[in-house]
Amino acid sequence: MTKTDPSQTQAASFASLPLPAAMLANLEQLGYKAMTPIQAASLPLALAGRDLIAQAKTGSGKTAAFTLPLLARLAPRQFAVQALVLCPTRELADQVTAEIRRLARAEDNIKTLTLCGGVPLRGQLSSLSHGAHIVVGTPGRILDHLARETLSLEALSTLVLDEADRMLDMGFAEDIAKVVAACPKSRQTLLFSATYPDGVASMAGRFMRDPAEVKLTERH
Ligand code: ADP
Ligand code: MG
Repeated sequence: MTKTDPSQTQAASFASLPLPAAMLANLEQLGYKAMTPIQAASLPLALAGRDLIAQAKTGSGKTAAFTLPLLARLAPRQFAVQALVLCPTRELADQVTAEIRRLARAEDNIKTLTLCGGVPLRGQLSSLSHGAHIVVGTPGRILDHLARETLSLEALSTLVLDEADRMLDMGFAEDIAKVVAACPKSRQTLLFSATYPDGVASMAGRFMRDPAEVKLTERH
């Protein structure tokens, strides 16, 4: 009647990942003691540089599953947008930005900017003029900034499509395709979704390079 399987405990620890000590200490401070199942399944693949399709229900910790890999790839001294996270709504983009900022606390001066529709452009233009490492936003407004050339994705190394199913439901397929076309081909693409309908699969097929798939359904 033993209670814990040591190999499982080991596998669930963030310390088993190739992450800097300062980041591990920050996770501990945030109360992130063990990886959630989607994090345990996706972090080793994403940290190894693979494109990734990850499906798990809401509240399962998907934000950290894409944020830790994008932070690990980031060059803090290169003051250019190196990661872009596309989200369906402003509310979700604000939540993602807050989580990224918490997870990035251990790094020196990582700047994260939110760019969403329904917000006056003026403040965004001024923020953009000061630069950022990470941008989180809704597809329409990101496209708007690309068209105005107020945002460049030339230095992008990680593209995240968060809540991909909801973005498609909201009619963002075209806008997403245009944003992807403005990203360097050599990037890593991480797609996260609560469900995996055909539309998401075909989007993944168009935009991703030999993606690994991690799917955690309710039964697991
Ligand atoms: P999802 O995107 O899958 O809906 P979130 O990334 O928003 O889920 O995470 C849900 C909540 O769980 C957040 O409050 C987050 O801070 C917390 N969380 C994520 N991973 C862990 C972890 N490994 N340990 C403790 N809390 C976590
Ligand atoms: Mg989420």
